[in-house]
Amino acid sequence: MKVIESIKEMKEASQALRAEGKKIAFVPTMGYLHEGHLSLMRKGREVGDALIVSIFVNPTQFGKGEDLERYPRDIERDKELCKGEGVDILFVPSVREIYPENYQTYVDVEDVTKNLCGTSRPGHFRGVATVVTKLFNIVRPDIAIFGEKDFQQLAVIKRLALDLNMDVEVIGMPIFRESDGLAMSSRNNYLSQEERGAARSIYRALRRAKEVFDEGERSAGVLLNEARRVLEICPLIEPEYVKLADMGTMEYVDRVEEEALLAIAVRIGKTRLIDNIILRKM
Ligand code: AMP
Repeated sequence: MKVIESIKEMKEASQALRAEGKKIAFVPTMGYLHEGHLSLMRKGREVGDALIVSIFVNPTQFGKGEDLERYPRDIERDKELCKGEGVDILFVPSVREIYPENYQTYVDVEDVTKNLCGTSRPGHFRGVATVVTKLFNIVRPDIAIFGEKDFQQLAVIKRLALDLNMDVEVIGMPIFRESDGLAMSSRNNYLSQEERGAARSIYRALRRAKEVFDEGERSAGVLLNEARRVLEICPLIEPEYVKLADMGTMEYVDRVEEEALLAIAVRIGKTRLIDNIILRKM
């Protein structure tokens, strides 16, 4: 596995792969890798001839007072995990490399970033869209793989790739969960034992709404109340949003017709966690 820090070298390496006729699969991450990340890499191995992973904790997608400084990092462990998954190139640029002095260009995706995390984290998706555009320009992947854990992010990147005529196929992968249902996240690492216990309620709330949906309920009000009631049982959980949204546009819906995304964001202590479930007619 080649570890590359410079943009110039990364561009040359991916150009060389393309010259060999290799289809490049790309998995961008912020590191502190877990099984969720690894599942994306396995998909990358399957669909591409060469697998490139990036680790970059992107400062522009963190708001003031968010966890940029304390975001967990362990590059040596991440390198080993990437090697184990057969990653060909690990791209680990510095912040200075990606945002040199006098940097001033940002990518704004409009409507799809308005709701959900776009409301609670102003500027977040601008940072995400900007760094992903830059990474796509540097790596020039044929296929890029993202997790449905960050469902709105996936929708934003699909929109971005389409709107800016990028020659990349964006693939979404299902959420990888712990055995008790908690969606894997690098941020789970922040939780105390008690908070970790409380975090189980998030998936329980999603499951509860899905159960009621599967019994035939279609009203957003009723479905969301079911989910909220499960969250309310746990005093450590402070819900930020519990919403039903259209899977493509992320517009809120009053009723589920064919399918919709039930998305939850909560705070547990200082930690912000998100999760979602797809409600789809069987
Ligand atoms: P992050 O390092 O948190 O920025 O995540 C990098 C990529 O991994 C994103 O596409 C995430 O959606 C995806 N990801 C994170 N957690 C999970 C998970 N539990 N299951 C599947 N994909 C995930």
